[in-house]
Amino acid sequence: MEFGHAPAPAKELRKHLTQGRVAGRKSRGRLQYKSPKQIADRKQAQEAEPVSEFEKLTPPSDGEIIEKRRKKLHVPDRPIIPFIVGDGTGVDIWPAAKKVIEAAVEKAFQGRKQIVWFQIYAGEAANELYGTHLPEDTIKAIEKFVVAIKGPLTTPVGGGHRSLNVTMRQRLDLYACVRPVRYFRGVPSPVRRPQKLDIVIFRENTEDVYAGIEYKQGTPEAERVITFLNEMMGCTVRPDSGIGIKPISITATKRLVRKAIIYAIQNHRCSVTLVHKGNIMKYTEGAFRDWGYEVAREEFGRFIITEDDLLSQYDGNVPPGKIVVKDRIADSMFQQVLLRPDEYSVIALPNLNGDYLSDACAAQVGGLGMAPGGNIGDATALFEATHGTAPKYAGKDMVNPGSLILSGAMMLEYLGWKAAARKIYRALQRTILQKFVTYDLHRLMKNATKVATSEFADRIVGNMN
Ligand code: NAD
Repeated sequence: MEFGHAPAPAKELRKHLTQGRVAGRKSRGRLQYKSPKQIADRKQAQEAEPVSEFEKLTPPSDGEIIEKRRKKLHVPDRPIIPFIVGDGTGVDIWPAAKKVIEAAVEKAFQGRKQIVWFQIYAGEAANELYGTHLPEDTIKAIEKFVVAIKGPLTTPVGGGHRSLNVTMRQRLDLYACVRPVRYFRGVPSPVRRPQKLDIVIFRENTEDVYAGIEYKQGTPEAERVITFLNEMMGCTVRPDSGIGIKPISITATKRLVRKAIIYAIQNHRCSVTLVHKGNIMKYTEGAFRDWGYEVAREEFGRFIITEDDLLSQYDGNVPPGKIVVKDRIADSMFQQVLLRPDEYSVIALPNLNGDYLSDACAAQVGGLGMAPGGNIGDATALFEATHGTAPKYAGKDMVNPGSLILSGAMMLEYLGWKAAARKIYRALQRTILQKFVTYDLHRLMKNATKVATSEFADRIVGNMN
């Protein structure tokens, strides 16, 4: 699976992208191309920047900065990569993942390349150090060093601080939450043929009901919105309601679907499915579908065919090399991934449904402990364990570090260090087939040996060659 440096994209796509038919459209905002002089000036400015740009952090002096130019990553041999250990079981899974990632890089490049880690803070550790759960230092460090990785972070339910994950995604404009879901042989699964599920989910990450526009019941803000809706818009919202707003924009939808289609083309995937609840929420979810098709037709017409065209013009036979773009209603999609998983390949969907569907799919291939993820924007990328902090297991060296390890492999692919990523996939597969697994998989497997988080990592490293 490829996320940043895909296998040489079809020549045609490369030409298509550089002709500006896709890239050019976006070049007004964050994606503007920079001249060599601008790049040199930026580099000089970065080098000249005093350490004091951070309040409490000192970046390592023995690594180099990853840069993104013309949408392409430039990765030095010793890139500085910020990491956040995370709350709860972060203390268990981060050291395990770090060990496996380092071993894979060492095995693949024999010292020619090495990650230079840089600890940054969010969550409880940040609160202790800075008096806030998400310090500016952390945002600045991710922006500056371009690629980062994190463990899980606590979010209080029904009050307290806002979700740190959601805030980071919005602040850094990490608009695509990319979650590959694939099966490793030997992992216990609740379905009969888990190997049939091999999908990559592109979940919109910045808006929908996750935009954080919420008004608590009984507050003047909630009352004002309710009064406006009832008096000016002819609605009948109960006066004792809490209010949440669901914005879905052309901008966010199109850039997400564009990313999903480019991924599908580069990785020879056969379809892109737009998942929505547009039959009920017509102007948000329904619009997501319509704008998704617009991107597909207007920007990728040479590469795609819609499902309607497939049936009406091609008698159901996909012309060679074409990607089928189709759409499904969200509730039906939850059935489809169980009943006909092999009919789906890349899936693009709004935020809330994407959150639900990615966990449901992960459950089919071994649970959250094995589900990797990355939040990817145009400027930066933040890879993360997709599960939460599992507080009751924190510090017990028990939980499965697979999610963060696989997110690390995704990060290596993003850097273009594919040989190292492959080492991780193979060694993880071997370890599972040898039946050395953590408690979550052990309780579902026959004749397996239960190992601690740290031992699982050691076994994976031992299986690397
Ligand atoms: P959770 O993911 O922490 O736990 C859900 C279930 O999965 C639990 O039964 C747990 O035992 C199991 N589980 C989780 N990680 C596992 C692992 N590595 N190996 C094996 N089993 C594992 O979800 P929750 O209990 O709903 O949330 C706990 C906290 O985590 C909350 O504060 C929540 O907001 C936060 N959270 C954070 C993220 C994130 O940082 N990306 C994601 C989800 C939840």
